Amino acid sequence: MLLVEDEKGVANFIKKGLEEELYTIDHAENADDGLSFVAANQYDLIILDIMLPGMNGLDLCKEIRKKGIQSPVMMLTARDSIDDKVMGLDSGADDYLTKPFSFEEFLARVRALLRRKQDKLTELTYGSLKIDTLAHRAFADGTEVMLRPKEYAILVYLLRNRGRVLSRTQILENVWGYDFNPNTNIVDVHIKALREKLDEVNILNLIRSVRGVGYMIDS
Ligand code: CA
Repeated sequence: MLLVEDEKGVANFIKKGLEEELYTIDHAENADDGLSFVAANQYDLIILDIMLPGMNGLDLCKEIRKKGIQSPVMMLTARDSIDDKVMGLDSGADDYLTKPFSFEEFLARVRALLRRKQDKLTELTYGSLKIDTLAHRAFADGTEVMLRPKEYAILVYLLRNRGRVLSRTQILENVWGYDFNPNTNIVDVHIKALREKLDEVNILNLIRSVRGVGYMIDS
């Protein structure tokens, strides 16, 4: 998910809460950075604060829609007038939440938006492997594969990009976020663990190493 919010306290509250629910969040503090993120990634959900420095969240939402990006958008604002709600929805947002809000309500709306997406991305299948991307669970012939959050995120990222070689840096940026030391071997460690778990359920050689480049799942 992408969160565009300039207030550090609110941003941390949302990011931390969503990460505890095993979602992966990119955070931008302004519209320009938000646009760079949406140009580089496909998001399941985009959360926009309306009051941002520079371009506001309403205009940012219009820009995102103008680029043909279909991800669900939730607007956040401190204002609570009918006009703002109408403007938010007219700008192409799918839902609108007034601050302050409870995290429970926020989370319920996040889930509803992800469900409403009714996109084929909510279920990923590959051979005997089936991923429920709403529940964040993986199954092999109906048996759950118990993955840790980062292992799950790597598997989904590779599956969604099947047929493409993904570099360690791309995997790091997508799964861990943007401020990671590129010299770490954390990707290899997680891929190794992931392969072992897939081997246990007889999904063999799913993730291929491409020497000197990275990893891939064949299309
Ligand atoms: Ca703000």
